[in-house]
Amino acid sequence: MRILVTGGGGFIGSNFIFYLLKKYKKDVDIINVDALTYAGNLTTLKSIENHRNYHFNKIRIENREEMEKLCKQAPPDYIINFAAESHVDRSIKDATPFIATNILGTQTLLDLSLKYKIKRYIQISTDEVYGELGTSGKFTEETPLAPNSPYSASKASADLLVRSYVKTHGLNAVITRCSNNYGPYQYPEKLIPLMIINALNDKSLPIYGKGHNIRDWIHVEDHCRGIDQALHLGKQGEIYNLGGESEKTNLDVVHNILKKINKPTSLIKHVNDRHGHDFRYAINIEKSRKELNWEPQVEFTEGLEKTIDWYLENETWWKEIQRKNHHHLDD
Ligand code: NAD
Repeated sequence: MRILVTGGGGFIGSNFIFYLLKKYKKDVDIINVDALTYAGNLTTLKSIENHRNYHFNKIRIENREEMEKLCKQAPPDYIINFAAESHVDRSIKDATPFIATNILGTQTLLDLSLKYKIKRYIQISTDEVYGELGTSGKFTEETPLAPNSPYSASKASADLLVRSYVKTHGLNAVITRCSNNYGPYQYPEKLIPLMIINALNDKSLPIYGKGHNIRDWIHVEDHCRGIDQALHLGKQGEIYNLGGESEKTNLDVVHNILKKINKPTSLIKHVNDRHGHDFRYAINIEKSRKELNWEPQVEFTEGLEKTIDWYLENETWWKEIQRKNHHHLDD
C-alpha cells in the first residue's frame, strides 16, 4: 500500500504518518509531500526520517511539474490531502496563499489522481465549511455549505472540486470533514497549544470576545483512525463527518488548562472578537458511526491532560518553533 500523504509535516499529517507506520508496519510505504511553510516542521518526524517505509519530498502541491515527476516515478495507490493553509486569522490578513494551496493545490492532486489512476483520493476537510450554528442543532453531511472565513471558503471550494471530479470523471474520492483537533505536535498559534504555552510562561491568555464560542473538540488520534476507516470503508463520492461529540466553550477549555497546570485565571485576557467569528460548531457523526464503524474514543478531559503533559515533556519541540517564528506567536 503506497500512500502519498500531503502536508505530513503539519499537525494532523504527522500524527497520521505515525499512525500508519504503527498500524501497518512494513505493509505501508509513505511518501510525504510538504512545502514546509511556517506550519511544517521536520523535527516532528526526526525519529522516522531514516525509516525504510517513509520518504520525504519538499514540494508545493500546486507545483504541477514537480508533483507529476513524483507520481510518474512511482504512482501511489492512494492520495490523502492534508496540505493546507489552516489558520483562520492568517486568512483574514491575506487570503492569497489559501487560494493557491487549498484550491489550486487540490486541483493539481485531483488531476494527477486521474492521470495515474490512483485507487482512492481522500480530501481532509473541515466542519468550518458548514458555517456556524446557533445554540441548537448539529451539522450533518447534508448541511448546505456556508463558509464564513476566507480559510473555510477555500476549503469548501476544494470540496466542491472534489465532488465535481467524482461526478464528471468518476474519480474514486471521499471527503472527511472533521471538527477542531487537539493533541501532540499542534503548531502553537492554535487555541490549545497557545494557551498551554502562554500559561506555562505566565503570559496572558488572549480570548476572543467573551470566550463563549463553542467548538467540538476531537483528539487527533481519533481523527486519524476515522481517516483510515474512510480510506477502507468509505463509499466513492461520499462525505463523512468526524467529530469528538465534545462541545466546549473556549473559556471552558482555557479554565481546564489553567486548572491542570495550576495557574491563576487572572492570566485570561479578553480581546476584540475575530471578524466573522463563527459562534458554534457541532457535528453529527451518525453516518460515520454506521458506515465507517467509527466513533471517537478519547474523552476530552483525559485527552487534554495528556496533551498538556506532552507539551510539558516536549519543550524543545515548541521552543524551537518559538525561536524561529516568535513574531507570529505574539500576534
Ligand atoms: P497544519 O497547518 O498544522 O499543517 C499543514 C501542513 O501543510 C504544513 O506542514 C505545511 O507545511 C503544509 N503545506 C502548506 N501549504 C502547502 C503546499 N502548498 N504544498 C505542500 N504542503 C503545504 O494543519 P493541520 O492542522 O495539520 O491540518 C491539516 C488538514 O486538516 C488541513 O487540510 C485542515 O484544513 C484540516 N483540518 C484541520 C483541523 C484542525 O483542527 N487542525 C480540523 C479539521 C480539518
